[in-house]
Amino acid sequence: MSWQTIGQPKILDLFRNALRTGSLSHAYLLVGPPQVGKMTLALDLAMALNCQAESESRPCGQCISCQKISSGKHADVQVIGLNSHLSDDEAKERTEISIEQIKQMLHTTSLPPFEGQHRVYIIDEAGYLSTEAANCLLKTLEEPVGRVVFILLTANLHLLPTTLISRCQRLNLSRLRTAEVESVLVDRWHIEPEKARLLARLSCGCLGWAVEAFKNSGLLEDRGEQFEKMKTVMHGDYSQRFAIAYQLAMQFGKKREAVYETLDTWASCWRDILLVKTGCDSDITNTDYLPDLAALAGDFSLFQIKAALLSIVETGKQLRVNANARLAMDALMLNLPQAGKGIVISK
Ligand SMILES: [Zn+2]
Repeated sequence: MSWQTIGQPKILDLFRNALRTGSLSHAYLLVGPPQVGKMTLALDLAMALNCQAESESRPCGQCISCQKISSGKHADVQVIGLNSHLSDDEAKERTEISIEQIKQMLHTTSLPPFEGQHRVYIIDEAGYLSTEAANCLLKTLEEPVGRVVFILLTANLHLLPTTLISRCQRLNLSRLRTAEVESVLVDRWHIEPEKARLLARLSCGCLGWAVEAFKNSGLLEDRGEQFEKMKTVMHGDYSQRFAIAYQLAMQFGKKREAVYETLDTWASCWRDILLVKTGCDSDITNTDYLPDLAALAGDFSLFQIKAALLSIVETGKQLRVNANARLAMDALMLNLPQAGKGIVISK
């Protein structure tokens, strides 16, 4: 058997048991942080449902059906999401999964499977379903038909209407342990140990992020820029700080995720500074920045580091509940301590 999913033992047990006893739900809702493995798990289930191997070895990953599913070419397995079936330009414009997308998808639900045993519909980022699209889907979920399984994926449960949530069996995916991510990166992806260690720490238990960062060096470069920006804030005067606040607020208008990522990087660096300051160097996340972090730990008091960390986390929370981005960023710049100033309270 070759489930591609790493970790999530309880969910895999549940699926295996349901497959064995034929007690599958007609709709699952997979909830978990971005890139924790929701799509891999959904595709695993789609493969297990359509695999041509002996039942105890499904999904085999080898048969024609498993291969078609993993390459996105199986007629009975459809994946839809915010950016599916669109050119790059159109995808940029789209902010929700439209009713047309759902109708097009549901068009085939009443037909028997074309080449496999089950029709599987995977809806990625289901939180972006438009209200009409969600209602349309809800009607279908209320009247389940045979040999059809819906799998909804989301990182933000609160974006989904409760009516829709209540129609699905909800499964929460948990973050992997850092050591688990590290060993998969080395064993399965053949990444050199030192790099695997860094990526695993940065991934916060989301294997998909680590793999993407390995394939796309741009992700680590972005982190480098975010780190430099934070150092400018730490050492800069208020005009430099407000210029960065302005930049981030503008960016928030266009690409929210990028700003959340910046704040996450800042928080993780401040957390590391705290660890270095308290002598727990071996637990830091940003292992490649250790010399910088050690220098910064000398520039701030423990009290300041803690306050900075809390301010950044709080700003992220405010932005997620739609605070005015410019105000939130300006306030953050006022709250963050300046290097070498005000180290009155010693550790
Ligand atoms: Zn197979």
